[in-house]
Amino acid sequence: MSMPMEYCSACGGRLEPGDRHPVCSACGRTAHRDPKVGVGVVVVQQGRLLLVRRGVQPGKGLWALPAGYVDAGEDPREAAAREAYEETGLRVAVGRVVDVYPSTVTGGHRGASFFLAFEAEVVGGELAAADDALDAGFFGAEELPDLAFESTRDAVSRVLSPGG
Ligand SMILES: [Zn+2]
Repeated sequence: MSMPMEYCSACGGRLEPGDRHPVCSACGRTAHRDPKVGVGVVVVQQGRLLLVRRGVQPGKGLWALPAGYVDAGEDPREAAAREAYEETGLRVAVGRVVDVYPSTVTGGHRGASFFLAFEAEVVGGELAAADDALDAGFFGAEELPDLAFESTRDAVSRVLSPGG
């Protein structure tokens, strides 16, 4: 895996590959890169799953769970609720973790380092796609659009019963 040119946050020196993390060639500090954490919600109403059509890479143009990145210091559940609201206009109450998924790569575009999917329930708002979402809606097992990610396919297989 090639590493982009990076510099030490302490002294500005050039980072060199280390055992596990890059090491500064000037001051010797190890650079710990933070993972990019994605969160999303699995919302089911009357046997149909809430999906959004993505307006950004990775998975642009395809459908996925309402999702986004956790900001530094943000509670992951609050981040999931915020992203759901930004993308779908729906206010959700976020519950249990459905699963944790590794890095997303589609069409050469890398997304989150890992992705947490939460169960969630609609508690208010009006369905209207916005922000990074081109469209939003509820889909049953027999009417699914093209899905972006393995995490989305996994959520679909867990919560939607074929023929239901
Ligand atoms: Zn340094």
